[in-house]
Amino acid sequence: MKIVKKISGEGEVIQKEIADLERTIGLAKDEIRALSANCNHEFRELTPSELKDEWMSVGARCLVCGAHFGWRCKKSPDSVCHYYSSEGKVELIDGTFVNVPEGHEPDNESDDRCIFDGQPDERK
Ligand SMILES: [Zn+2]
Ligand SMILES: [Zn+2]
Repeated sequence: MKIVKKISGEGEVIQKEIADLERTIGLAKDEIRALSANCNHEFRELTPSELKDEWMSVGARCLVCGAHFGWRCKKSPDSVCHYYSSEGKVELIDGTFVNVPEGHEPDNESDDRCIFDGQPDERK
């Protein structure tokens, strides 16, 4: 610890190195964002015991980019639970839209019930 009138030469060197590294981190983060934006997202196969589990709670984490998409779903086309639709369509994680299942009632949508398999968003 030093009390100074003006930052020391030694301090300036460290300060500059930190600023340079922060710039590098910023650029690396931009690169990660760009790579992640190109990710097609891959999930691991669900195991037979997971598929048998009535209250399956498997997080939907991409094996490639590490992004999280809530919960894995036994029935949805992209294997991720979705809770809300718009005009009879559900937006999948890749941005495409699929029709809601037959008999689906849009007025009853909530976090408590996945459109495809009926599981709640809140799980243990
Ligand atoms: Zn991904
Ligand atoms: Zn689901």
